[in-house]
Amino acid sequence: MNQTKYIFVTGGVTSSLGKGIIAASLAKLLQARGYRTTIQKFDPYINVDPGTLNPYEHGECYVTDDGAETDLDLGHYERFLNVPTSQANNVTTGRVYLSVIEKERRGEFLGKTVQVVPHITNEIKERMQQLGRSGDYDIVITEIGGTVGDIESLPYIESVRQLIYELGENNGIVIHLTLVPYLAAAGELKTKPTQHSVKTLMESGIKADILVCRTEHELSTELRQKLALFCNVKSEAVIQSIDASTIYDVPNLMLEEGLDRVALKKLDLSEKNSPDLKQWNDFLYRLKNPKHTVNIGLVGKYVELQDSYKSILEAFIHAGSANETKINVVSIHSEYIDKDNVADKLKGLDGLLVAPGFGERGIEGKIETVRYARENNLPFMGICLGMQMAVIEYSRNILGLKDANSTEMNASTANPVINIMEEQKTITQKGGTMRLGSWKCTLEEGSLARKIYGAAQIEERHRHRYEFNGKYREALESAGLKASGVNPDTGLVEVIELESHPFFIGVQYHPEYKSTVANPHPLFVHFVKAAVAAKR
Ligand code: GLN
Repeated sequence: MNQTKYIFVTGGVTSSLGKGIIAASLAKLLQARGYRTTIQKFDPYINVDPGTLNPYEHGECYVTDDGAETDLDLGHYERFLNVPTSQANNVTTGRVYLSVIEKERRGEFLGKTVQVVPHITNEIKERMQQLGRSGDYDIVITEIGGTVGDIESLPYIESVRQLIYELGENNGIVIHLTLVPYLAAAGELKTKPTQHSVKTLMESGIKADILVCRTEHELSTELRQKLALFCNVKSEAVIQSIDASTIYDVPNLMLEEGLDRVALKKLDLSEKNSPDLKQWNDFLYRLKNPKHTVNIGLVGKYVELQDSYKSILEAFIHAGSANETKINVVSIHSEYIDKDNVADKLKGLDGLLVAPGFGERGIEGKIETVRYARENNLPFMGICLGMQMAVIEYSRNILGLKDANSTEMNASTANPVINIMEEQKTITQKGGTMRLGSWKCTLEEGSLARKIYGAAQIEERHRHRYEFNGKYREALESAGLKASGVNPDTGLVEVIELESHPFFIGVQYHPEYKSTVANPHPLFVHFVKAAVAAKR
């Protein structure tokens, strides 16, 4: 097949309808039918990437192998498709403008007035086709962030309009995701918001080919016909997206509704095979029929907002299914944990995960959590800042270095067991300057980490500025805290573990970013296994 086909997913009525999950579910079905499919996200905000955004603003920042700091929807894409994404899969208005302005400064526009149309839209269209042109994909799904009608979205909507025209008949389609609210007082589902949002799209010259309607109740045939009539689509192209108990049900729900078949028909592509979802459904079966239950404490400082730790929560779902175990993740605010209440706050938990993070807030609570897990033989996993806290805890309480700290929290500590990385010292810009993306790590023979991975060489994704201070390695290792994973080129300590403990492991990288339905991350799988064992 030579012509790459494009599917654009827009959103109407309100945000948070789950465009990312619909896009990922459709991609899953197309992939399972044998089409090489990828998904990309275009976000309308002016930040160049979400790396500088507070998790409270935008949820988790997801990191790709090539070190892009991206929207958390890319995590869903990878978890569903089991194919890595890259910098090209996430574009923001900030990035688009930055590159157009840089071109202008280089004189590339030859004296022309630089405008939204055509210069910004050309840049957007180029980026929309970048992955398609690589020849690696049959179908590219592009999710447009925001809601149709927003000022910010206009250049994207205009670019979609132009591109669909340029691509020609059957090469580009639009799926519009809307809300069909239920009015309890009237006892009815209402179609008017969808009609309005389709109309708004039409005002920009785009006709939706397929409507995906989020709803809390089944859509009747009459209602589908009404939506079809008012919104210019066939009634088979009115797709119901009913609330599901897990996001991993959505591909099957979309299959039942025929979303993939309608999309293929519109793109003039054959249905190929019926989707092979065996592995996916095995995963779902284990997820829904657990044999054990464990309570895992997730100790962090952004716990009020579930999206802040999205990939960690999803990695637990994958690991739960792999262990046929229902996992209750109990979110615990590290700021409210202290020496006196730690036992009370962490009561009833079968494992503790200390979360990644930045800055001082809540770190003493994290350190107390590590101590509690260590002293009570509770399975423990520390990720990034969580690993750094484990090093500080051990230095303070076992080595007796009472003022041990990270220079991130106390720049003048006499015992900087966690220190700023050398190459970070001269960096002044904040955006995109951390140690990011995939780096190698060699695992020590005989270590727990090596056993878990079943390999000596691994590659994991990173996002940090501080590191284990090598000056303290010998003292910490002789006291029992082993550096069991190290970067082979730089010696940077990537993994620490405690031999005398049933399961105590800290990692400088983020294993959660690489956990997928097809490949649950081994660290999470073994952590959950240890929690199940600890409970017995
Ligand atoms: N703040 C720490 C650092 O920059 C940890 C980062 C993280 O947890 N992602 O090294």
